[in-house]
Amino acid sequence: MMQCSGKSVLDGVAIGKLYLYQRQEYVLKKEIISDVEAEKKRFWDAKASAAAQLDELYRKALDEAGEEQAMIFDVHKMMLDDGDYLEAVIAKIEDEKLNAEYAVLETGKSFAEIFASMDDDYMRARAADVKDISTRVVRILAGVGDGGIHSDEPVILLADDLSPSETVQMDKSKILAFVTAGGSANSHTAILARSMNIPSLVKTELELKSEYNGVTAVVDGFTGTLYIDPDETVLKEMTAKRERHQQEQKLLKELKGKDNVTTDGRRINLYANIGNTEDVAKVLESDAGGIGLFRSEFIYLGREDYPTEEEQFEIYKEVISRMAGKKVIIRTLDIGADKQADYFGIAKEENPAMGYRAIRICLDRVEMFKTQLRAIYRASAFGTAAIMFPMIISVAEIRRVKEIVEEVKEELTAEGKAFGEAELGIMIETPAAVMISDELAKEVEFFSIGTNDLTQYTLAIDRQNQSLDNIYDAHHPAVLKMIKMTIDNGHAAGIWVGICGELASDKTLTKTFVDMGLDELSVSPTYVLGLRKTIREI
Ligand code: PEP
Ligand code: MG
Repeated sequence: MMQCSGKSVLDGVAIGKLYLYQRQEYVLKKEIISDVEAEKKRFWDAKASAAAQLDELYRKALDEAGEEQAMIFDVHKMMLDDGDYLEAVIAKIEDEKLNAEYAVLETGKSFAEIFASMDDDYMRARAADVKDISTRVVRILAGVGDGGIHSDEPVILLADDLSPSETVQMDKSKILAFVTAGGSANSHTAILARSMNIPSLVKTELELKSEYNGVTAVVDGFTGTLYIDPDETVLKEMTAKRERHQQEQKLLKELKGKDNVTTDGRRINLYANIGNTEDVAKVLESDAGGIGLFRSEFIYLGREDYPTEEEQFEIYKEVISRMAGKKVIIRTLDIGADKQADYFGIAKEENPAMGYRAIRICLDRVEMFKTQLRAIYRASAFGTAAIMFPMIISVAEIRRVKEIVEEVKEELTAEGKAFGEAELGIMIETPAAVMISDELAKEVEFFSIGTNDLTQYTLAIDRQNQSLDNIYDAHHPAVLKMIKMTIDNGHAAGIWVGICGELASDKTLTKTFVDMGLDELSVSPTYVLGLRKTIREI
């Protein structure tokens, strides 16, 4: 048995086999080939393998998600058989003597550009698909895997570190726990693990060895311990601990349908945070009163191109409809810093957390911002939506945002498109926003405090920097004073104030927040019922 410890991101016990996550990066080189026929054969073989993979994906999606979701793989297969596409690849091999990988890559790019320049939304969306099928063929040609989890049973995933875009792409049903050698408990990857309700450890500093693959292990999220090849005693003890935890979770379920009210009658709204449509089931299961933070940027991650208005509309509509009248607060795109997508073409920055991100990008790329706002407004006709804007630092920013919102509504009206209303709020996650929260409160209908970033900017401690995790202290008096000041200024202007950062689920502070007069707490669905219990005991 081997044992090591890390930082836990969620309570709970997972027992299962280890699976070493293989991130296979590759550098594609342009080569001039001499044997054209051999190169063409390489291409045809790779294309056949890609088609077989797509068949398999279609079958899997059909079983797990239904016909509508599975269709995409059928479309990919059709595109892979497109005569013009195939001709273009072969021409590059025959005429330019390019290696098959490069010929496919170049063809994919030029076809994607053609699709992207079309007027029709549906056709524009095909740009991402043609890039996707080309990447699939290139990966097969280059002999590199897709970084997926190829296991029949759910596993404990071992990785050096994971990025948010890698995490969102993973097949969640295959993961019992994450264990990373590096990483920080405040990172978005940790937040995702929490929202997926899986006990995970970061910063274990474990040396990743291929012989760990397939070995039984235990993750104890209560103590932050990983046991590899546990002995009988540990296995027995941990199995019992897992059962006890499951029992406790069951008991919490009895609080479903009950009010979040303190013994002296103070009511707190308890909402849940989500990153995608799959999380809605967990929100409903948790009996949260609404969604207090939909991190919409996750829609933009792990793909090759911008999501279109239609794609986004469908996603927001699904979430809003399924919440059936309960409030859904959608945070507009908060890309940048650790959440990166190549197609945004954001230049490398010295200090990305303080760089070109979130509302700064949206106010700069207004058309892209409008696409998202149009989708949200159209979807808001299907229930109760609210919109909040991240990383605000000035009154001018929110005034500009409101102008754009008005333009979007006018445009939708002129086009005769149906849309609903949405409450408008901002995230308070910079010390600047706190200090001018009296002025900002006059501009919006609510504040939601993002304590993850507010802590990092107040204490000048990078939330991603694992070596500073021990002093990243969200309980710091400066952070608590900022929260109090925001609540007071919000209330003075007659608006409600909530917290949607990770601190909202810290039960040791629930009474403090209630005493401060906070109106709402938005937490990972996993924490809703536990927090209800705490509130009801105050
Ligand atoms: C926050 O900063 O507290 C927040 C909720 O936003 P994110 O964690 O996505 O940056
Ligand atoms: Mg934030």
